[in-house]
Amino acid sequence: MEMLYRSTRGAAGEVTASQAILQGLAPDGGLYVPVKLPKLAHTMREMADMTYKETAFEVLSLFLTDYTEDELRHCIDAAYDEKFDTEVIAPLVQADGAYYLELFHGATIAFKDMALSILPHLMTTAAKKNGIKDEIVILTATSGDTGKAALAGFADVPGTRIIVFYPKHGVSAIQERQMVTQKGANTSVIGITGNFDDAQTGVKKMFNDAELKEELAKNGFRFSSANSINIGRLVPQIVYYTYAYCKLLAEGHVRDGEKIHVTVPTGNFGNILAAYYAKKIGVPIDKLICASNTNKVLFDFFETGRYDRNREFVLTSSPSMDILISSNLERLIYHIAGDDCDVTREMMSKLANGGVYDITPEMKEALADFASGYATEENTASAIRTLYERTGYVIDPHTAVASYVYHGYAAEACDNTRTVIASTASPFKFARSVMAAIEGQKSEEEDFALIDRLSAIANVAQPPAITELRTAPVRHDTVCETADMKAEVSKILGL
Ligand SMILES: *Cc1c(COP(=O)(O)O)cnc(C)c1O
Repeated sequence: MEMLYRSTRGAAGEVTASQAILQGLAPDGGLYVPVKLPKLAHTMREMADMTYKETAFEVLSLFLTDYTEDELRHCIDAAYDEKFDTEVIAPLVQADGAYYLELFHGATIAFKDMALSILPHLMTTAAKKNGIKDEIVILTATSGDTGKAALAGFADVPGTRIIVFYPKHGVSAIQERQMVTQKGANTSVIGITGNFDDAQTGVKKMFNDAELKEELAKNGFRFSSANSINIGRLVPQIVYYTYAYCKLLAEGHVRDGEKIHVTVPTGNFGNILAAYYAKKIGVPIDKLICASNTNKVLFDFFETGRYDRNREFVLTSSPSMDILISSNLERLIYHIAGDDCDVTREMMSKLANGGVYDITPEMKEALADFASGYATEENTASAIRTLYERTGYVIDPHTAVASYVYHGYAAEACDNTRTVIASTASPFKFARSVMAAIEGQKSEEEDFALIDRLSAIANVAQPPAITELRTAPVRHDTVCETADMKAEVSKILGL
Protein backbone atom coordinates (compact mmCIF):
# COMPACT_ATOMS: atom_id res chain seq x y z
CA MET A 1 0.00 0.00 0.00
CA GLU A 2 1.41 3.40 -1.00
CA MET A 3 1.80 5.64 2.04
CA LEU A 4 1.26 9.35 1.50
CA TYR A 5 1.70 12.23 3.91
CA ARG A 6 -0.33 15.38 4.48
CA SER A 7 0.16 18.42 6.66
CA THR A 8 -1.63 18.54 10.03
CA ARG A 9 -2.91 21.95 8.86
CA GLY A 10 -4.27 20.59 5.60
CA ALA A 11 -3.08 23.15 3.05
CA ALA A 12 -0.13 21.35 1.50
CA GLY A 13 -1.62 18.52 -0.55
CA GLU A 14 -0.30 14.98 -0.32
CA VAL A 15 3.36 14.11 -0.72
CA THR A 16 5.46 10.94 -0.72
CA ALA A 17 7.61 9.94 2.24
CA SER A 18 10.82 11.05 0.52
CA GLN A 19 9.31 14.46 -0.28
CA ALA A 20 8.16 14.87 3.31
CA ILE A 21 11.66 14.02 4.56
CA LEU A 22 13.30 16.51 2.19
CA GLN A 23 10.95 19.31 3.22
CA GLY A 24 10.94 18.74 6.99
CA LEU A 25 8.19 21.22 7.86
CA ALA A 26 5.16 21.43 5.53
CA PRO A 27 4.85 24.71 3.58
CA ASP A 28 1.69 25.69 5.53
CA GLY A 29 3.64 25.48 8.81
CA GLY A 30 2.11 22.13 9.81
CA LEU A 31 3.80 18.77 10.35
CA TYR A 32 3.59 15.86 7.95
CA VAL A 33 1.48 12.89 9.13
CA PRO A 34 0.60 9.62 7.36
CA VAL A 35 -2.79 9.95 5.62
CA LYS A 36 -3.64 6.49 6.95
CA LEU A 37 -1.63 4.50 9.50
CA PRO A 38 -0.33 1.12 8.31
CA LYS A 39 -0.38 -2.20 10.20
CA LEU A 40 2.60 -4.49 10.78
CA ALA A 41 2.74 -7.28 8.22
CA HIS A 42 3.97 -9.89 10.72
CA THR A 43 2.94 -10.92 14.24
CA MET A 44 5.12 -10.19 17.26
CA ARG A 45 5.80 -13.94 17.51
CA GLU A 46 7.05 -13.99 13.90
CA MET A 47 9.26 -10.97 14.62
CA ALA A 48 10.47 -12.14 18.04
CA ASP A 49 13.90 -13.29 16.87
CA MET A 50 14.60 -10.46 14.48
CA THR A 51 17.75 -8.35 14.82
CA TYR A 52 17.46 -4.59 15.26
CA LYS A 53 18.15 -4.06 11.56
CA GLU A 54 15.52 -6.59 10.50
CA THR A 55 12.97 -4.95 12.79
CA ALA A 56 13.93 -1.56 11.35
CA PHE A 57 13.26 -2.87 7.85
CA GLU A 58 9.81 -4.18 8.87
CA VAL A 59 8.78 -0.83 10.33
CA LEU A 60 10.43 1.52 7.83
CA SER A 61 9.06 -0.34 4.82
CA LEU A 62 5.51 0.25 6.12
CA PHE A 63 5.97 4.02 6.32
CA LEU A 64 8.53 4.88 3.63
CA THR A 65 6.83 3.12 0.75
CA ASP A 66 8.46 5.11 -2.06
CA TYR A 67 11.91 3.84 -1.03
CA THR A 68 12.93 0.55 -2.68
CA GLU A 69 13.89 -2.45 -0.57
CA ASP A 70 17.54 -1.95 -1.60
CA GLU A 71 17.46 1.71 -0.65
CA LEU A 72 16.00 1.01 2.79
CA ARG A 73 18.44 -1.81 3.52
CA HIS A 74 21.33 0.41 2.49
CA CYS A 75 20.17 3.23 4.79
CA ILE A 76 19.65 0.81 7.70
CA ASP A 77 23.05 -0.86 7.24
CA ALA A 78 24.84 2.47 7.07
CA ALA A 79 23.09 3.72 10.24
CA TYR A 80 23.14 0.85 12.74
CA ASP A 81 26.79 -0.24 12.48
CA GLU A 82 29.91 0.08 14.67
CA LYS A 83 28.89 3.61 15.61
CA PHE A 84 26.89 1.77 18.28
CA ASP A 85 28.88 0.16 21.07
CA THR A 86 26.63 -2.92 21.16
CA GLU A 87 25.38 -5.13 18.34
CA VAL A 88 21.99 -5.28 20.05
CA ILE A 89 21.75 -1.48 19.38
CA ALA A 90 19.05 -0.96 22.05
CA PRO A 91 19.51 -3.31 25.05
CA LEU A 92 16.79 -3.90 27.67
CA VAL A 93 17.90 -3.91 31.31
CA GLN A 94 15.59 -5.19 34.02
CA ALA A 95 15.88 -3.26 37.30
CA ASP A 96 13.56 -2.83 40.27
CA GLY A 97 10.43 -4.04 38.52
CA ALA A 98 10.81 -2.20 35.19
CA TYR A 99 12.59 -2.71 31.89
CA TYR A 100 14.96 0.09 30.90
CA LEU A 101 15.30 0.36 27.12
CA GLU A 102 18.78 1.83 26.72
CA LEU A 103 18.68 4.14 23.72
CA PHE A 104 22.09 5.68 24.36
CA HIS A 105 24.59 3.31 22.78
CA GLY A 106 25.22 5.46 19.69
CA ALA A 107 27.89 8.01 18.83
CA THR A 108 26.74 10.79 21.18
CA ILE A 109 25.31 8.66 24.02
CA ALA A 110 21.79 10.13 23.90
CA PHE A 111 18.66 8.75 22.23
CA LYS A 112 18.78 11.34 19.40
CA ASP A 113 21.36 9.03 17.79
CA MET A 114 18.69 6.39 17.16
CA ALA A 115 17.10 8.57 14.47
CA LEU A 116 19.94 10.93 13.56
CA SER A 117 22.20 8.08 12.49
CA ILE A 118 19.74 7.12 9.75
CA LEU A 119 18.22 10.51 8.80
CA PRO A 120 21.23 11.62 6.65
CA HIS A 121 20.96 8.45 4.57
CA LEU A 122 17.19 8.76 4.22
CA MET A 123 17.68 12.38 3.18
CA THR A 124 20.42 11.86 0.57
CA THR A 125 18.43 8.94 -0.87
CA ALA A 126 15.36 11.19 -0.99
CA ALA A 127 17.36 13.84 -2.86
CA LYS A 128 18.45 11.30 -5.47
CA LYS A 129 14.91 9.94 -5.88
CA ASN A 130 13.53 13.42 -6.44
CA GLY A 131 16.24 14.46 -8.89
CA ILE A 132 17.74 17.06 -6.57
CA LYS A 133 21.36 17.70 -7.47
CA ASP A 134 22.07 20.45 -4.93
CA GLU A 135 24.26 19.77 -1.96
CA ILE A 136 22.07 19.66 1.18
CA VAL A 137 23.14 22.07 3.90
CA ILE A 138 21.79 21.15 7.33
CA LEU A 139 21.48 24.27 9.45
CA THR A 140 20.94 23.66 13.17
CA ALA A 141 20.69 25.69 16.35
CA THR A 142 21.29 23.61 19.44
CA SER A 143 21.09 23.86 23.20
CA GLY A 144 23.46 20.90 23.44
CA ASP A 145 22.32 17.38 22.52
CA THR A 146 20.72 17.69 19.09
CA GLY A 147 23.67 19.56 17.57
CA LYS A 148 26.18 16.88 18.45
CA ALA A 149 23.91 14.02 17.34
CA ALA A 150 23.23 15.77 14.02
CA LEU A 151 26.97 16.47 13.52
CA ALA A 152 27.84 12.83 14.19
CA GLY A 153 25.07 11.65 11.85
CA PHE A 154 25.94 13.92 8.92
CA ALA A 155 29.77 13.91 9.26
CA ASP A 156 31.32 12.89 5.94
CA VAL A 157 27.98 11.88 4.40
CA PRO A 158 28.49 12.64 0.67
CA GLY A 159 26.22 15.33 -0.73
CA THR A 160 25.70 17.06 2.63
CA ARG A 161 27.19 19.78 4.80
CA ILE A 162 26.24 20.58 8.35
CA ILE A 163 26.55 23.88 10.19
CA VAL A 164 25.72 24.02 13.91
CA PHE A 165 25.32 27.17 16.00
CA TYR A 166 25.41 26.88 19.79
CA PRO A 167 25.34 29.47 22.60
CA LYS A 168 29.01 29.82 23.57
CA HIS A 169 28.12 30.33 27.24
CA GLY A 170 24.95 28.24 27.34
CA VAL A 171 26.03 24.60 27.07
CA SER A 172 27.83 22.30 29.50
CA ALA A 173 31.61 21.84 29.27
CA ILE A 174 31.20 18.25 28.09
CA GLN A 175 28.60 19.23 25.49
CA GLU A 176 30.88 21.97 24.12
CA ARG A 177 33.85 19.60 23.97
CA GLN A 178 31.72 17.04 22.16
CA MET A 179 30.89 19.59 19.47
CA VAL A 180 34.17 21.45 18.98
CA THR A 181 36.11 18.19 18.56
CA GLN A 182 33.74 16.93 15.83
CA LYS A 183 35.52 15.32 12.87
CA GLY A 184 34.35 15.41 9.25
CA ALA A 185 35.35 17.63 6.33
CA ASN A 186 31.73 18.76 5.87
CA THR A 187 31.13 19.88 9.49
CA SER A 188 31.20 23.42 10.93
CA VAL A 189 30.53 24.38 14.53
CA ILE A 190 30.16 27.99 15.63
CA GLY A 191 29.68 29.43 19.08
CA ILE A 192 27.57 32.59 19.24
CA THR A 193 27.77 35.25 21.91
CA GLY A 194 23.96 35.16 22.37
CA ASN A 195 21.75 32.53 24.02
CA PHE A 196 19.91 29.54 22.52
CA ASP A 197 16.89 31.61 21.50
CA ASP A 198 19.19 33.97 19.59
CA ALA A 199 20.74 31.01 17.78
CA GLN A 200 17.31 29.58 16.96
CA THR A 201 15.98 32.91 15.73
CA GLY A 202 19.09 33.47 13.59
CA VAL A 203 18.70 30.06 11.96
CA LYS A 204 14.97 30.55 11.31
CA LYS A 205 15.73 33.92 9.69
CA MET A 206 18.16 32.27 7.30
CA PHE A 207 15.60 29.60 6.39
CA ASN A 208 13.13 32.36 5.47
CA ASP A 209 15.65 34.61 3.68
CA ALA A 210 14.59 34.61 0.00
CA GLU A 211 17.73 36.38 -1.17
CA LEU A 212 19.92 33.84 0.59
CA LYS A 213 17.88 31.00 -0.88
CA GLU A 214 18.52 32.31 -4.38
CA GLU A 215 22.21 32.74 -3.68
CA LEU A 216 22.37 29.17 -2.37
CA ALA A 217 20.61 27.77 -5.44
CA LYS A 218 23.02 29.63 -7.74
CA ASN A 219 25.89 27.90 -5.97
CA GLY A 220 24.30 24.43 -5.93
CA PHE A 221 23.12 24.34 -2.29
CA ARG A 222 19.80 24.03 -0.48
CA PHE A 223 18.99 24.17 3.23
CA SER A 224 17.30 21.39 5.13
CA SER A 225 16.51 20.66 8.75
CA ALA A 226 17.36 17.79 11.06
CA ASN A 227 15.10 18.69 13.95
CA SER A 228 12.44 16.46 15.40
CA ILE A 229 9.53 17.72 13.35
CA ASN A 230 10.95 15.83 10.36
CA ILE A 231 8.98 12.61 9.78
CA GLY A 232 12.36 11.05 8.94
CA ARG A 233 13.26 11.34 12.62
CA LEU A 234 9.95 10.06 13.92
CA VAL A 235 9.61 6.83 11.93
CA PRO A 236 13.00 5.34 12.99
CA GLN A 237 11.91 5.85 16.61
CA ILE A 238 8.92 3.50 16.16
CA VAL A 239 11.43 0.72 15.55
CA TYR A 240 12.80 0.41 19.08
CA TYR A 241 9.41 0.08 20.75
CA THR A 242 8.54 -2.73 18.34
CA TYR A 243 11.93 -4.32 18.96
CA ALA A 244 11.60 -4.02 22.75
CA TYR A 245 8.28 -5.87 22.73
CA CYS A 246 9.71 -8.60 20.49
CA LYS A 247 12.64 -9.09 22.87
CA LEU A 248 10.35 -9.28 25.93
CA LEU A 249 8.36 -11.95 24.09
CA ALA A 250 11.43 -13.87 22.88
CA GLU A 251 12.85 -13.96 26.39
CA GLY A 252 9.59 -15.04 28.02
CA HIS A 253 8.92 -11.85 30.00
CA VAL A 254 5.49 -11.44 28.39
CA ARG A 255 2.98 -13.92 26.95
CA ASP A 256 2.03 -13.54 23.29
CA GLY A 257 -0.41 -10.64 23.07
CA GLU A 258 0.12 -9.50 26.69
CA LYS A 259 0.03 -5.72 26.76
CA ILE A 260 2.81 -3.59 28.23
CA HIS A 261 3.04 0.03 29.34
CA VAL A 262 5.66 2.40 27.99
CA THR A 263 7.00 5.36 30.01
CA VAL A 264 8.82 8.16 28.20
CA PRO A 265 10.68 11.20 29.58
CA THR A 266 9.17 13.85 27.37
CA GLY A 267 10.17 17.25 26.00
CA ASN A 268 9.23 17.91 22.40
CA PHE A 269 6.81 14.93 22.38
CA GLY A 270 8.65 13.12 19.56
CA ASN A 271 9.74 10.01 21.41
CA ILE A 272 6.39 9.29 23.05
CA LEU A 273 4.55 9.98 19.79
CA ALA A 274 6.67 7.23 18.20
CA ALA A 275 5.43 4.88 20.97
CA TYR A 276 1.85 5.95 20.16
CA TYR A 277 2.44 5.08 16.50
CA ALA A 278 3.96 1.74 17.55
CA LYS A 279 0.73 1.00 19.39
CA LYS A 280 -1.37 2.04 16.39
CA ILE A 281 0.49 -0.26 13.97
CA GLY A 282 -0.09 -3.26 16.22
CA VAL A 283 2.51 -3.48 19.00
CA PRO A 284 0.61 -4.65 22.15
CA ILE A 285 0.97 -1.47 24.19
CA ASP A 286 -1.61 -0.43 26.78
CA LYS A 287 -0.74 2.88 28.46
CA LEU A 288 1.66 5.51 27.20
CA ILE A 289 2.93 7.21 30.34
CA CYS A 290 4.16 10.74 29.63
CA ALA A 291 6.75 11.92 32.17
CA SER A 292 7.59 15.62 32.59
CA ASN A 293 10.08 17.48 34.78
CA THR A 294 9.24 20.75 36.59
CA ASN A 295 8.29 22.27 33.22
CA LYS A 296 5.08 20.23 33.43
CA VAL A 297 3.06 21.83 30.64
CA LEU A 298 2.25 18.36 29.25
CA PHE A 299 1.17 16.92 32.61
CA ASP A 300 -1.23 19.86 33.02
CA PHE A 301 -2.50 19.32 29.49
CA PHE A 302 -3.30 15.64 30.12
CA GLU A 303 -4.95 16.52 33.45
CA THR A 304 -7.10 19.40 32.26
CA GLY A 305 -7.33 19.34 28.45
CA ARG A 306 -5.85 22.84 28.38
CA TYR A 307 -2.43 23.56 26.88
CA ASP A 308 -0.99 26.70 28.42
CA ARG A 309 2.56 27.78 27.71
CA ASN A 310 2.23 31.01 29.69
CA ARG A 311 4.38 30.11 32.65
CA GLU A 312 7.87 30.47 33.98
CA PHE A 313 10.57 28.49 32.18
CA VAL A 314 12.64 26.53 34.69
CA LEU A 315 16.18 25.18 34.16
CA THR A 316 16.45 21.63 35.52
CA SER A 317 18.91 18.74 35.71
CA SER A 318 17.10 17.19 32.70
CA PRO A 319 17.77 20.06 30.24
CA SER A 320 16.62 18.22 27.11
CA MET A 321 13.10 18.27 28.59
CA ASP A 322 13.15 21.97 29.49
CA ILE A 323 10.62 23.03 26.90
CA LEU A 324 7.30 24.84 26.92
CA ILE A 325 6.20 24.30 23.32
CA SER A 326 6.20 20.59 22.51
CA SER A 327 6.07 20.80 18.72
CA ASN A 328 5.18 17.18 18.07
CA LEU A 329 2.05 17.43 20.21
CA GLU A 330 0.49 18.99 17.09
CA ARG A 331 0.49 15.52 15.49
CA LEU A 332 -1.37 14.02 18.47
CA ILE A 333 -3.90 16.88 18.42
CA TYR A 334 -4.56 16.13 14.76
CA HIS A 335 -5.15 12.43 15.46
CA ILE A 336 -7.37 12.85 18.54
CA ALA A 337 -9.44 15.40 16.60
CA GLY A 338 -10.22 12.54 14.18
CA ASP A 339 -7.49 13.53 11.66
CA ASP A 340 -9.07 16.96 11.39
CA CYS A 341 -6.83 19.67 9.86
CA ASP A 342 -9.26 22.53 10.54
CA VAL A 343 -9.43 21.85 14.27
CA THR A 344 -5.64 21.45 14.43
CA ARG A 345 -5.00 24.69 12.54
CA GLU A 346 -7.36 26.59 14.82
CA MET A 347 -5.72 25.29 18.00
CA MET A 348 -2.22 25.96 16.72
CA SER A 349 -3.18 29.48 15.81
CA LYS A 350 -4.51 30.00 19.37
CA LEU A 351 -1.20 28.64 20.67
CA ALA A 352 0.77 31.04 18.47
CA ASN A 353 -1.34 34.06 19.42
CA GLY A 354 -2.22 33.66 23.09
CA GLY A 355 -0.15 30.66 24.13
CA VAL A 356 -3.27 28.70 25.20
CA TYR A 357 -5.83 26.32 23.69
CA ASP A 358 -8.46 23.91 25.03
CA ILE A 359 -9.33 20.59 23.45
CA THR A 360 -12.95 19.40 23.20
CA PRO A 361 -14.42 16.77 25.59
CA GLU A 362 -14.41 14.22 22.72
CA MET A 363 -10.73 14.85 22.12
CA LYS A 364 -10.02 14.48 25.82
CA GLU A 365 -11.74 11.07 25.75
CA ALA A 366 -9.43 10.04 22.93
CA LEU A 367 -6.51 10.60 25.31
CA ALA A 368 -7.41 7.46 27.29
CA ASP A 369 -4.29 5.77 25.87
CA PHE A 370 -2.18 8.16 27.95
CA ALA A 371 -1.29 8.57 31.60
CA SER A 372 0.99 11.31 32.87
CA GLY A 373 3.02 12.52 35.80
CA TYR A 374 5.93 14.76 36.69
CA ALA A 375 9.02 14.75 38.85
CA THR A 376 10.50 17.70 40.76
CA GLU A 377 14.28 18.10 41.01
CA GLU A 378 14.18 16.37 44.39
CA ASN A 379 12.08 13.50 43.03
CA THR A 380 14.52 13.08 40.14
CA ALA A 381 17.57 12.89 42.40
CA SER A 382 15.82 10.47 44.75
CA ALA A 383 14.89 8.20 41.82
CA ILE A 384 18.57 7.98 40.81
CA ARG A 385 19.69 7.32 44.37
CA THR A 386 16.99 4.76 45.22
CA LEU A 387 17.52 2.71 42.08
CA TYR A 388 21.28 2.74 42.64
CA GLU A 389 20.97 1.69 46.29
CA ARG A 390 18.53 -1.11 45.47
CA THR A 391 20.18 -2.54 42.37
CA GLY A 392 23.52 -0.85 41.60
CA TYR A 393 22.08 0.33 38.27
CA VAL A 394 22.73 4.00 37.45
CA ILE A 395 20.40 6.10 35.26
CA ASP A 396 20.66 9.66 33.95
CA PRO A 397 18.36 12.50 35.17
CA HIS A 398 16.03 12.33 32.12
CA THR A 399 15.47 8.61 32.60
CA ALA A 400 15.08 9.23 36.34
CA VAL A 401 12.12 11.54 35.68
CA ALA A 402 10.44 8.65 33.84
CA SER A 403 11.40 6.15 36.53
CA TYR A 404 9.90 8.32 39.27
CA VAL A 405 6.70 8.89 37.31
CA TYR A 406 6.36 5.19 36.47
CA HIS A 407 6.75 4.00 40.06
CA GLY A 408 4.27 6.63 41.23
CA TYR A 409 1.75 5.55 38.62
CA ALA A 410 2.16 1.83 39.37
CA ALA A 411 1.70 2.36 43.12
CA GLU A 412 -1.30 4.64 42.79
CA ALA A 413 -3.10 2.53 40.19
CA CYS A 414 -2.08 -0.78 41.86
CA ASP A 415 -0.98 -1.78 38.38
CA ASN A 416 1.87 -4.22 37.87
CA THR A 417 1.68 -4.43 34.08
CA ARG A 418 5.16 -4.97 32.61
CA THR A 419 6.59 -1.59 31.72
CA VAL A 420 9.32 -0.41 29.38
CA ILE A 421 11.00 2.87 30.39
CA ALA A 422 12.76 4.76 27.60
CA SER A 423 16.28 5.39 28.90
CA THR A 424 17.29 8.42 26.86
CA ALA A 425 20.84 9.32 27.89
CA SER A 426 23.92 7.71 29.34
CA PRO A 427 24.53 8.73 32.97
CA PHE A 428 28.10 9.63 31.91
CA LYS A 429 26.72 12.54 29.92
CA PHE A 430 25.28 14.03 33.12
CA ALA A 431 27.87 12.75 35.60
CA ARG A 432 27.72 15.88 37.75
CA SER A 433 23.98 15.67 38.52
CA VAL A 434 24.10 11.89 38.81
CA MET A 435 26.95 11.89 41.35
CA ALA A 436 25.30 14.66 43.34
CA ALA A 437 22.11 12.57 43.48
CA ILE A 438 23.89 9.43 44.61
CA GLU A 439 26.19 11.13 47.12
CA GLY A 440 23.63 13.62 48.38
CA GLN A 441 25.89 16.63 47.77
CA LYS A 442 27.43 18.61 44.93
CA SER A 443 31.09 18.11 44.15
CA GLU A 444 33.73 20.68 43.14
CA GLU A 445 35.67 18.12 41.15
CA GLU A 446 36.29 18.40 37.41
CA ASP A 447 33.99 16.61 34.97
CA PHE A 448 36.46 13.89 34.03
CA ALA A 449 37.26 13.12 37.68
CA LEU A 450 33.52 12.72 38.34
CA ILE A 451 33.22 10.48 35.31
CA ASP A 452 36.02 8.26 36.66
CA ARG A 453 34.28 7.91 40.00
CA LEU A 454 30.92 7.25 38.37
CA SER A 455 32.47 4.50 36.29
CA ALA A 456 33.91 2.91 39.44
CA ILE A 457 30.76 2.98 41.57
CA ALA A 458 28.46 1.90 38.72
CA ASN A 459 30.95 -0.75 37.62
CA VAL A 460 30.38 0.29 34.00
CA ALA A 461 33.15 1.04 31.51
CA GLN A 462 33.19 4.59 30.16
CA PRO A 463 31.71 4.76 26.67
CA PRO A 464 34.15 5.57 23.83
CA ALA A 465 32.25 8.82 23.26
CA ILE A 466 33.57 9.99 26.64
CA THR A 467 37.10 8.54 26.60
CA GLU A 468 37.75 10.03 23.15
CA LEU A 469 36.90 13.49 24.45
CA ARG A 470 39.85 13.55 26.84
CA THR A 471 42.41 13.67 24.04
CA ALA A 472 40.43 14.72 20.95
CA PRO A 473 41.90 17.87 19.37
CA VAL A 474 39.70 20.96 19.07
CA ARG A 475 38.76 21.35 15.40
CA HIS A 476 36.28 24.24 15.62
CA ASP A 477 37.02 27.50 17.38
CA THR A 478 34.91 30.09 15.57
CA VAL A 479 32.88 32.41 17.78
CA CYS A 480 30.67 35.12 16.30
CA GLU A 481 28.15 37.77 17.28
CA THR A 482 24.51 36.76 16.77
CA ALA A 483 24.22 39.42 14.05
CA ASP A 484 27.02 37.79 12.03
CA MET A 485 25.56 34.29 11.72
CA LYS A 486 24.57 34.77 8.08
CA ALA A 487 27.99 36.13 7.18
CA GLU A 488 29.59 33.03 8.73
CA VAL A 489 27.36 30.75 6.65
CA SER A 490 28.28 32.66 3.47
CA LYS A 491 31.95 32.33 4.33
CA ILE A 492 31.70 28.57 4.96
CA LEU A 493 29.83 27.93 1.72
CA GLY A 494 31.95 30.37 -0.31
CA LEU A 495 28.93 32.40 -1.46
C1 LIG B 1 15.53 15.07 23.44
C2 LIG B 1 15.59 14.33 24.74
C3 LIG B 1 14.42 14.01 25.48
C4 LIG B 1 13.04 14.46 25.05
O1 LIG B 1 12.58 13.76 23.91
P1 LIG B 1 11.39 14.38 23.03
O2 LIG B 1 11.30 13.49 21.84
O3 LIG B 1 11.80 15.77 22.70
O4 LIG B 1 10.16 14.32 23.87
C5 LIG B 1 14.55 13.27 26.65
N1 LIG B 1 15.76 12.90 27.10
C6 LIG B 1 16.90 13.18 26.43
C7 LIG B 1 18.21 12.76 26.99
C8 LIG B 1 16.87 13.90 25.22
O5 LIG B 1 18.02 14.19 24.58
